[in-house]
Amino acid sequence: MLTIKNFINGEFENPISNDWIDNYCPANGEIYGQTPNSSKADIEQAYQAAKKAFPNWSQTTLEERSKILIRISELLEANLQYFAEAESKDNGKPIHLAKSVDIPRAASNFRFFGNAITQFSSESHETVGKDALNFTLRQPIGVVGCISPWNLPLYLFTWKIAPAIAAGNCVIAKPSEITPVTAFLLGDICLQAGLPNGVLNIVHGLGNSTGQAIIEHPDIKAISFTGGTKTGVNIARVAAPMFKKLSLELGGKNPNIIFADCDYDDMLETTVRSSFANQGQICLCGSRIFIEASIYDTFKNDFVKKVKALKVGHPSNSKTDIGALVSKGHLEKVKSYVNIAENEGERIICGGKTVSIEDYKNGYYFEPTVIEVPNNECRLNQEEIFGPVVTIMPFNTEEEVLQMANDVKYGLSATLWTNSLKRTMHMTTNIQAGIIWVNTWMLRDLRTPFGGIKASGIGREGGFEAFRFFTETKNVCIKY
Ligand code: NDP
Repeated sequence: MLTIKNFINGEFENPISNDWIDNYCPANGEIYGQTPNSSKADIEQAYQAAKKAFPNWSQTTLEERSKILIRISELLEANLQYFAEAESKDNGKPIHLAKSVDIPRAASNFRFFGNAITQFSSESHETVGKDALNFTLRQPIGVVGCISPWNLPLYLFTWKIAPAIAAGNCVIAKPSEITPVTAFLLGDICLQAGLPNGVLNIVHGLGNSTGQAIIEHPDIKAISFTGGTKTGVNIARVAAPMFKKLSLELGGKNPNIIFADCDYDDMLETTVRSSFANQGQICLCGSRIFIEASIYDTFKNDFVKKVKALKVGHPSNSKTDIGALVSKGHLEKVKSYVNIAENEGERIICGGKTVSIEDYKNGYYFEPTVIEVPNNECRLNQEEIFGPVVTIMPFNTEEEVLQMANDVKYGLSATLWTNSLKRTMHMTTNIQAGIIWVNTWMLRDLRTPFGGIKASGIGREGGFEAFRFFTETKNVCIKY
């Protein structure tokens, strides 16, 4: 049995209440660990450690901060196999995905922000004709909170922590209680890298108790949150009256728009990935696929053939394309949407059932599923499923597909397949989303702004945007 502990002030601690949560392995449905169910008292302990560490950390030179972050990155790379196995076991994702995407990206997050902080600069404005000079300082906020979800556990956890500490803040971070393991292992890496005690405090527990205690703490001045829209609404409601800075990266229901003039083979290959990578549990997956009518039947046949060939299997099997869903509760949610589709008379053209894997019969496996829908108003096109389920439907004109793409409460990302420059410009200018990929998907450059509009959140992370979020802006005007 793995016993996960809180990491506070450089020490591994049991929760003060001695209250624990079972940790399940999605591949076989068995309990394999215990996670602290931390209370307000643990958050207070973490806050006191962070507060004490802040004066020194915020004055640590950028070279020193950068060196420590890059050292964390190197240690993650050196322990790639160990971390990838832990992530795959805890989340259910195929091991090759954890090894090629999740853990390398967690390492890149530390390396990128470790380097970027040495390039972050203040601005000055000479106020010509008035003998005055303005300069703008960007100072660390103090103690900040970072809360992340279960789908890309270490990847998203570090996406917040790295810029926060690089900018000179001290952090209280909570991973999802469903996938706590790699966040727990990160504590040891931070010690080895020489991160001073109290700079990063990792506290485990349930969202509505531990997470809630972070957002309610009056002296935690900023909250960076990635998770569901409903949770984001609650966080905004609690944090706004305390004037906390908020960055909310929330849900999505992203359109994947395919025009007949695209590079067909490339589109087909990528669309399989953008639909089902990580069991479809990526906020950026293109779960509503709109296909130009002239290629609709061809696409449907070719796509379904490829989807049927995907191998659902144990995450540790190198041939597995689709691993286990993250939890029993989530499997039930995904299944319920297939029932909704059936009740609404939509056509399930492949998948739609749970899968029983030899020797792992209690694991949370589900077939990659394609559903043909008659319109964009149906629940399957309006609600986030966050699993291996996509819908397909044809369209005739740019205006028609644009209207459908935007007719949803979310606005996180979109994918567009076309070789027409004119159409690319028209569509990208008018699609309501924070991130748009044209003729590709999930091609990331960490310098770019990342985030959504509408119910997909507020604020941007990535590059210097993250440093702007994790600092307070102060302008000084000197008359000479
Ligand atoms: P949740 O909103 O349920 O949880 C996210 C995190 O918030 C977890 O650590 C959770 O803890 C915690 N939490 C829950 N309630 C509270 C609360 N009252 N106060 C503070 N923290 C709380 O999301 P999921 O974990 O289910 O993640 C899936 C969602 O995340 C999807 O909607 C997906 O679209 C979105 N997402 C968005 C991304 C983006 O960049 N926009 C990227 C990835 C995912 P616990 O797990 O213990 O409940």
